[in-house]
Amino acid sequence: MQPKVIIHGGAGSSLGGKGGVEVVRQSLYQIVDELYGLLQNNTSALDVVVRGCQLLEDEPRFNAGTGSVLQSDGQIRMSASLMDGLSHRFSGVINVSRIKNPIDVANSLQASPDRVLSDNGAAEFVRELGLSVYNPLTDKRLNEWLEDRKQNFSRSMADVIAESPGTGTIGVVALDTEGRLAAGTSTGGKGFEKIGRVSDSAMPAGNYATGSAGISCTGIGEDIIDECLAAKIVIRVTDGFSMKAAFERSFAEAHEHKRDLGAIGIDANGIIAWGKTSDVILAAFHDGHKKGDSLEVQKGTQIFVAE
Ligand code: ASP
Repeated sequence: MQPKVIIHGGAGSSLGGKGGVEVVRQSLYQIVDELYGLLQNNTSALDVVVRGCQLLEDEPRFNAGTGSVLQSDGQIRMSASLMDGLSHRFSGVINVSRIKNPIDVANSLQASPDRVLSDNGAAEFVRELGLSVYNPLTDKRLNEWLEDRKQNFSRSMADVIAESPGTGTIGVVALDTEGRLAAGTSTGGKGFEKIGRVSDSAMPAGNYATGSAGISCTGIGEDIIDECLAAKIVIRVTDGFSMKAAFERSFAEAHEHKRDLGAIGIDANGIIAWGKTSDVILAAFHDGHKKGDSLEVQKGTQIFVAE
């Protein structure tokens, strides 16, 4: 089977100037190339998704792992999830601190009878795994938080995309040579949120996969949860909708409900798709012949489904 991969680095309000677009494109393409090489070497979709999430978490320009945004109390709490379409198994970690790659915790939980852990329990599990203590804070994020504190955190969401070079929650969906699908998503949250707020990124609303399709979402988590977007698209495809019809219907509903969100996905036939109601989604893909991206499309609701 021809493998496929699509990744995202968030959705939001603007992408700054052209310089920003090129920097983000190079960064996304470099990761897409590495992931496509792994797929060509018969690496499983699940392993490719984990690797892709690690690379995107390590890139400080995106709001996941290193470069995560700060919550209202000035702390970083990260969430991530992984779903293996083959085993139909979801695992995730909610509001974990002081580690480098939250996706590694979600991956370790794939084999656990308790597959979604939060806060104290997640911290204890991180200790059990023996992961090194790591501070994901960057100066840029600290300065953004200090600026927003002056305005009493009046914005609904941090600049997880805005301004060159652009930043955001990350996600990866892959289809491997055996036809297996997997999806992973990782985030620092939407920024300035209340302590204990739970992101969609570690819920089936934001990340879901079966043998029929895999989807990773980004945008305002509450909007994604209200639409139950990832699970909705995947279930539509599983029940017989084409990928195109599932994206059209789901994004028409999200548009009607005035949501601010985006999604990427691949189905079992290798159809790659992305959609958004937000101004921008930073998505890039490799279909086996060429790379493509969503960086310079028009603002507002748009979908792309590869033929
Ligand atoms: N969906 C994430 C959240 O609300 C934020 C994002 O996608 O940028 O936690």
